[in-house]
Amino acid sequence: MFRVNEHFLKLSAGYLFPEIARRVALFAAENPSVASRIIRCGIGDVTEPLPSAAADAMRKAIDDLTTRERFRGYPPPSGYDFVRAAVAEGDFRSRGCSVADDEIFLSDGSKPDASAILEILGSGNRIAITDPVYPVYADTNVMAGNSGVALEGGGYEGFTYLACTPANGFSPALPTSPVDVIYLCSPNNPTGAVLDRTALTRWVAYAREHKSVILFDAAYEAFIRDPDLPHSIYEIEGARSCAIEFRSFSKVGGFTGVRCGYTVMPKDLYATTSTGARIGLHALWMRRWATCSNGVSWPVQCATAALYSPAGRAQTRALTDFYLDNAALLADACESMGLTTYGAKNSPYVWMTCPTGLGSWDAFDLLLREAQVVTTPGAGFGRCGEGFIRISAFNSRANVEEVVKRLSVLTARHSSRAS
Ligand SMILES: *Cc1c(COP(=O)(O)O)cnc(C)c1O
Repeated sequence: MFRVNEHFLKLSAGYLFPEIARRVALFAAENPSVASRIIRCGIGDVTEPLPSAAADAMRKAIDDLTTRERFRGYPPPSGYDFVRAAVAEGDFRSRGCSVADDEIFLSDGSKPDASAILEILGSGNRIAITDPVYPVYADTNVMAGNSGVALEGGGYEGFTYLACTPANGFSPALPTSPVDVIYLCSPNNPTGAVLDRTALTRWVAYAREHKSVILFDAAYEAFIRDPDLPHSIYEIEGARSCAIEFRSFSKVGGFTGVRCGYTVMPKDLYATTSTGARIGLHALWMRRWATCSNGVSWPVQCATAALYSPAGRAQTRALTDFYLDNAALLADACESMGLTTYGAKNSPYVWMTCPTGLGSWDAFDLLLREAQVVTTPGAGFGRCGEGFIRISAFNSRANVEEVVKRLSVLTARHSSRAS
């Protein structure tokens, strides 16, 4: 008799995005006359085409595969040297962070990496996640058996939740009881907040003191424009001995469908065994890649390296600028409705307070019903997300302008009703 991983059974049933899809489908079925007007600002998927530098490199790489001389088979499990060098130089050494080429591990994306990392961490670690949170950090730990049961009203028994609220500027306080694994995401999905140097310095000091590890998700790093904000945890002294960083090309290069990301695994990072021995994680991670993966395809690695060329850099800058302009338009529209917004600068997400008296799902339903705009209810990201909704700036300019127009019509309608 074979058994199932029963930790999966603890996952709370109502996952956010299926519930959004269900409500949108129901609305469309009941309101066929306006169904075609629906604009999706819910899921954080990109909309704009690939930078041409990446597309050209991919085409050329496919041609390589069609000739006997330039054909390539299995790639090295953690990436070709020239790609790892482009990444380490382009994202870290050029910013003054000491990261070696062989500390870069290329993968098919950050979501898989954030899940795979738990394979080399022990069981029974005490997990700290922010509230609200990118659901992947919580759910992968539930699946791995690091939590208790789902709690009524959201969250899981056994996790330490770090509240992110307007009162703390969405920069959480240190935990009051010790934790082993700390998930930080900056710029943040969903709040759009960016952790500053002071906050990251405090986290690094905490992790070093408690021998904990920080899992730092910088998937939205390319949206940072404020020159004072750190782009990488390794800009903080001492982070090499307590932090793993995840990066993704999904948002910066429009790679959500192409699939590429990477982990930075510093050689200074040691974990402790049950008998107190100190074990380097770099060797374990290398072993994990060699055993469980055959790496990233040649066309995708070539496309990735092309993002670091001068043309690639100019194009990714233009692409992220485009989404940031969308975010500013959306945030302005919400502010002129009299709502308070957060994020939107240095981030493609607008995190907005719901109109007074409305919960997240009420505000979601109202925007769907009256403006046919799909958002993401903050409550789906955790208890502290209640009272907020997230609006994604990943959309065409035409759609963003249409959303702005509809929000102003909605405001006018409500204020004329009120007077
Ligand atoms: C989009 C996103 C990622 C990227 O995931 P990929 O698997 O690389 O597409 C990672 N972390 C967060 C918080 C995200 O929102």
